[in-house]
Amino acid sequence: MFSKLKEKLKNWTKKFIEKESVEVEEKIEIKKEIETQKIEEEIKLPLKIKIKEEIKIKEEQEKKPEQNFISRAISKLNKVKISEKEFEVYGEELEMLLLENNVALEVAEKIIKELKSRIVGKDFLKKEVEFEIKDTIREIIEEILIEPFDIVEKIKTRDDDKKPFIILFCGINGTGKTTSIAKISELLKQKNVSNILAAADTFRAAAIDQLKEHGKKLGIKVIANEYGSDPASVAFDAIKYAEKNKIDCVLIDTAGRMHTAKNLISQIEKISRVCKPDLKIYVGESTTGNDAIEQIKTFNFAIGIDGIILSKADIDEKGGTALSVGYVTKKPILFLGTGQEYHELEIFNKDKFIEKLGL
Ligand code: GDP
Repeated sequence: MFSKLKEKLKNWTKKFIEKESVEVEEKIEIKKEIETQKIEEEIKLPLKIKIKEEIKIKEEQEKKPEQNFISRAISKLNKVKISEKEFEVYGEELEMLLLENNVALEVAEKIIKELKSRIVGKDFLKKEVEFEIKDTIREIIEEILIEPFDIVEKIKTRDDDKKPFIILFCGINGTGKTTSIAKISELLKQKNVSNILAAADTFRAAAIDQLKEHGKKLGIKVIANEYGSDPASVAFDAIKYAEKNKIDCVLIDTAGRMHTAKNLISQIEKISRVCKPDLKIYVGESTTGNDAIEQIKTFNFAIGIDGIILSKADIDEKGGTALSVGYVTKKPILFLGTGQEYHELEIFNKDKFIEKLGL
């Protein structure tokens, strides 16, 4: 994923350390000179007295004063501070790296701003500077991503068990929405949660057929109507069927033309109003990048999503989309789609994801 990040951090760290190397060498030289007594007595004496005083103070505090004094002196020599000016250069490089890895501009800017406020002017031990920066980036990303909830648990512990649990899926065509719905259906079946599918994308005949095909393969009932019929009424019919037949959960597929299409958005608002879903899940591609932000913002504004599924994580080498969609919606990524098979759905794990980023 952020494959260049590790390498960059190494380079940056080297530069931070090198900038003080002259100073450090000088200090070491002075120390050596005191030890070998090459310098004049009048310069050496006050230094010796100072060192002696320090040792005396230390002696009172600890058992091995000399060793402690020396190690403290060494740790001082090994400290490094990143200035604001230096950060500008490295901050810009890091921002480019984030953008190249599908992190949206507003999210990349937020990460850089946070990083700056946490590391500029702070003392770092030289040997730890790379680790500290990496750790800080990790911390920021951890804060951006929200811990996912367990949807099976949510369904099983719902308040009103007379009513089926209703999940509305939204997103753009071609992103893997129908496949993801089929994967969730299979997961629920595995967990003994009965479910049916509602083909509320009546805008494309192929979408109805596609859902029916998944239903056939999974052995799951699909409620569908004619191509071009009212999608809200299809979803409503599915809910009625589930109530009558004591089905635990209804998964509603919806149309996903361009997110800029006004009628699409008003259609999904209507379905949401009519069906009163318990969960609204957005399905998007891991590989989409900046466009994903505009798409998810439109759907979130229209119906208020509760969670996200990112499909095609198996073919995504960048990893930034998850950060972007998580940040702009402040909603959790629930699952990653990791292939075309029904079982290829992974519960989103923050730690695993961050590790994959190379942090
Ligand atoms: P929809 O138009 O949004 O409903 O998209 P589909 O569910 O039809 O998926 C579009 C294509 O993406 C199909 O070829 C799927 O097999 C494929 N697809 C869906 N999810 C994944 C995934 O997680 N990984 C991979 N590699 N392909 C996927």
